[in-house]
Amino acid sequence: MGNIRIVGATKRFGDVTAVDGVTLDIAGGEFLVLLGPSGCGKSTLLRAVAGLTPLDEGALELDGRDITHTAPRERDLAMVFQSYALYPHLSVERNIGFPLRARHQSREDIRRKVGEVAATLELSELLQRRPRELSGGQRQRVALGRALVRDPGAFLLDEPLSNLDAKLRASTRYELVELHRRLGTTFVYVTHDQVEAMTMATRIAILDQGRLEQVGTPAEVYDEPASEFVAGFLGSPPMNLFPATVVSRGGELVALAPGIDVPLGRRGELPDTEVVLGIRPEHLRPHDPRPAVTGTVRMLENLGGEEIAHCTVGDVRLCVRGPRPLGLTPGDEAGLAADPGHVHVFHRTTGRRLRWQDGATPAFPPLPAEETHQGVPA
Ligand code: ATP
Repeated sequence: MGNIRIVGATKRFGDVTAVDGVTLDIAGGEFLVLLGPSGCGKSTLLRAVAGLTPLDEGALELDGRDITHTAPRERDLAMVFQSYALYPHLSVERNIGFPLRARHQSREDIRRKVGEVAATLELSELLQRRPRELSGGQRQRVALGRALVRDPGAFLLDEPLSNLDAKLRASTRYELVELHRRLGTTFVYVTHDQVEAMTMATRIAILDQGRLEQVGTPAEVYDEPASEFVAGFLGSPPMNLFPATVVSRGGELVALAPGIDVPLGRRGELPDTEVVLGIRPEHLRPHDPRPAVTGTVRMLENLGGEEIAHCTVGDVRLCVRGPRPLGLTPGDEAGLAADPGHVHVFHRTTGRRLRWQDGATPAFPPLPAEETHQGVPA
């Protein structure tokens, strides 16, 4: 239950293509996070699944049933909005029970179900209050309760934590994950906050300009970003990216640029030698006798347990992150090493990640959007 299939979804607003040929299968019980920068089309895609925004092209299925043209209330999906969208003049009890009254359920059933949901969300003491008498976190729980009471096939959540302060956001993240685990229902969750995505998702779908860049577990998208875009979006600070040229030296491939001499730990030939190298800040090691990158330390940031050193290598800025103290001093030259297994190679123009296929020529495979653009029903 709660399997959602999105096939070639496209939505245009005038000249803007908000969602561009997205194909995505969401399995029942997943916590799928739609992640991407502001304006990348996350909310539009979620609203299309909910039936609030009609698609221009493509199809939607819920548990094998075509719902592309089904009215929102017939879709068996419950949406939770960033603004909570509570009725200000109704009590918590009546807000939560609203979907059941709209479906003409008996008073007894409504009281029982609202009581159960309120207990689950620790709202039992607040049932007679109005929304204005609640904190942001409590309002958010009432909005969740209103979705929960319907026992829907899937929950669609649009940035539900963005109005909460940082501390409450962190604890509510944990509560949402617990709730998801207990219910076992599909959650589709929109956010631009990578910490929310990394900590809550079973899989993350990353969008850029309406197109699907990568879908994978949090570890997959972080450890093996499919593109320069994903590499530069995830991580704090994000992956260091710098242009380089790959040459063969004594049969071994190395990436070269001013101040950069990075062994790739591979032999053979690349399909293209003009690349962008990517190394995460936590994968650059200072004080190594055989540095691959030589930069100048510009500034140190103290994060408490860790430290970030901001460096420059020629025109390129990069960050080093590690346990404090890193032992680097502003103004000094720093030699930094990286294990070949932590060096990512991207195509200079398409931004796609290089795949090393054992026994075969390395290749820059297409992104999911490029693969799925073919074979999409018109
Ligand atoms: P955010 O994180 O800022 O909410 P988003 O990733 O959810 O962004 P969308 O709200 O889906 O992005 O918007 C995608 C694009 O479509 C944007 O360029 C936006 O300006 C445009 N857009 C969205 N809704 C409409 C609309 N009703 N009319 C015109 N353009 C729209």
